[in-house]
Amino acid sequence: ATFGNLSDRLAETFKNLRTKGKLSPADVDATVREIRRALLDADVALEVVKDFTGKVRERALGDEVNKALNPAQQVVQIVNEELVAILGGEARRIQFAKKPPTVIMLAGLQGAGKTTLAGKLAKWLAKDNHTPLLVAADLQRPNAVNQLQVVAGQAGVAVFAPEPGNGTGNPVKVAKDSIKFAIDKQYDVVIVDTAGRLGVDADMMKQASDIRKAVDPDEVLFVIDAMIGQDAVATAKAFQDGVDFTGVVLTKLDGDARGGAALSVASVTGRPIIFASTGESLDDFEPFYPDRMASRILDLGDILTLIEQAQSAFDEGEAMKMAEKFATDTFTLEDFLAQMQQLRGAGSIKKMMGMLPGMGGMKQQLENFDEREIVRTEAIIQSMTKAERQNSKLLNGSRRLRIAKGSGMTVTDVNQLVQRFEQAAKMMKTVAKGGMPNIPGMGPV
Ligand code: GDP
Repeated sequence: ATFGNLSDRLAETFKNLRTKGKLSPADVDATVREIRRALLDADVALEVVKDFTGKVRERALGDEVNKALNPAQQVVQIVNEELVAILGGEARRIQFAKKPPTVIMLAGLQGAGKTTLAGKLAKWLAKDNHTPLLVAADLQRPNAVNQLQVVAGQAGVAVFAPEPGNGTGNPVKVAKDSIKFAIDKQYDVVIVDTAGRLGVDADMMKQASDIRKAVDPDEVLFVIDAMIGQDAVATAKAFQDGVDFTGVVLTKLDGDARGGAALSVASVTGRPIIFASTGESLDDFEPFYPDRMASRILDLGDILTLIEQAQSAFDEGEAMKMAEKFATDTFTLEDFLAQMQQLRGAGSIKKMMGMLPGMGGMKQQLENFDEREIVRTEAIIQSMTKAERQNSKLLNGSRRLRIAKGSGMTVTDVNQLVQRFEQAAKMMKTVAKGGMPNIPGMGPV
């Protein structure tokens, strides 16, 4: 659960408060200090934390708490209200154009979840009797157009993409043409997917900004991965300066990262969070409600459920399936990617390693993974063809070069990834063949 840790810490703080009657200024200070630490540890940006704790402290020392029948509860209430405020206050919905089509442009780093979001948004709009058109203006990654076509297929909506094969596609022109096309064919919402890079980059910003000028969008949604940690605030500010946006979409809220940085984004940019994305399937998507999110963070009952869910994400059935793949040497790059994504979904890598028997040797190596590495791995593997993913032996020099270009990485990065995959496959195979103590049904070794 993204905010599990933060929730736990806050709950702990309030538990200490609950045992008291009237609150002394020292009690308030101690509580505020705990909240401050919990927020900082959850990666909430310092400026936001300062502002937040300042307000909570001031209110907690004031009359509303002093006069309350239950001062501790009143403090929780204040924290809740201030949390709602940093999350943007009132929920805000998409603004539709008076005269269709409504143009929604997506911007954000590569891997943030833009393309997936385009599909989610389209599906959600289609359910609401809109006729969305997805526009492939991400011509950076060769696979991006394809990927958009796949999600459009899943969502059952149309795609506007450049003619295949003419190589030098111009994303600004594609975006511009798509609007004419939409008017012509009476699509009422145009969703423009743009190219991202792995980091903030002047060319990408310029392109996004040019697309923005060309299509004059009603909404520009900045898509941000809730798991990118401390970088979230800097990234958001860079996009605000470079392209500017009207709203934020938090993705990967199903993950186990600390997520606090993402909580800072609305407050730091002054732009509302409009949607939340909570998984890889197109239905894992919901409008964002600051008040609901705040109560999710503060609600004890919810915390427990979420922790349970995170634990069951890696159940024994999955572990069995993987173990079998290692043993029979059918472990592919796709599995490798799925496994990484699941690791992320299931949260703590250590926990997962604890569930797969006999993986002690891999543990250190896996513990050294950082989120960005997962994002890079995704970018590379997604730029491979299906055949390549299933048989890494196909990956000769020219294929590796193409993949490097497609994913915006270097050939060395691709080589390293393939090497790591091969090592992992080999190691896991050895471990699997060495027997599987503790897997239910297999008996002791
Ligand atoms: P883009 O580069 O910004 O277009 O990102 P993609 O849409 O290609 O998403 C990158 C990866 O993140 C893909 O593997 C998606 O399936 C995954 N993804 C997107 N949104 C979510 C989400 O909300 N939760 C999880 N767990 N994965 C997501």
